[in-house]
Amino acid sequence: MAAEEPIVTIDGPSGAGKSTISRMMAARLHFTYLDTGAMYRAVGLAVERHSIDLADSAALKGCLDAIRLELLPNAHDDVRVFLNGEDVSAAIRTPAMAMVASRVSANPLVREKLTELQRAIGQHGGIVAEGRDMGTVVFPAAPYKFYLDASPAERARRRCEQLRQKGQEADYQEILDQIVKRDYDDSKRALAPLKPAADAVIIDSSAMDPEAVVAFMLRHMGKA
Ligand code: C5P
Repeated sequence: MAAEEPIVTIDGPSGAGKSTISRMMAARLHFTYLDTGAMYRAVGLAVERHSIDLADSAALKGCLDAIRLELLPNAHDDVRVFLNGEDVSAAIRTPAMAMVASRVSANPLVREKLTELQRAIGQHGGIVAEGRDMGTVVFPAAPYKFYLDASPAERARRRCEQLRQKGQEADYQEILDQIVKRDYDDSKRALAPLKPAADAVIIDSSAMDPEAVVAFMLRHMGKA
């Protein structure tokens, strides 16, 4: 029987290029792309729609138990995300939902549920898992761990460009402020904070294009 394929983790702050790079890596390796940020965003949407008070554990648990999440990778676009059968892909990819996702992601019940789901998806390997805690918490034994970073200014510039390409409005200063706040919250929280795993390869992509980052990663994996 063929050996199981490995797990590749790509963590880092918002706008560092994780989604682009992870999608490209998954395509090159013929692995599944796991966008865990999309999962936190979808849970944030459900929590918002049902006006759940995060301090009310019983209500939150009920809401989480009723959530059915499906992620369908799409070669040309972002992953399509279905929340209880409804395509919420566009609804979750707004700056406002990013802030909501960051808020719900600090909750232990939410993290427990999504960590379990993510491990189930990765149980047979052959995935590129993108997020904040892939290398530190969800897949600590992954053989290939990367931490992708870039300067806040460059990350805000990229995020604005992405939003404008999707026809959404983007104010540079507002996006920059949100990025700085979200990274601060994500890295200071008690549970699964944003930080590089001790054995992660750290890449600053500020002055690198996506192809160069992917080439570097594949070389590191001995796949180039
Ligand atoms: O990656 P993305 O910007 O879609 O993530 C949205 C938010 O979800 C992040 O700011 C973070 O708070 C949360 N998140 C997380 N752990 C992950 C992925 C995302 O806490 N593995």
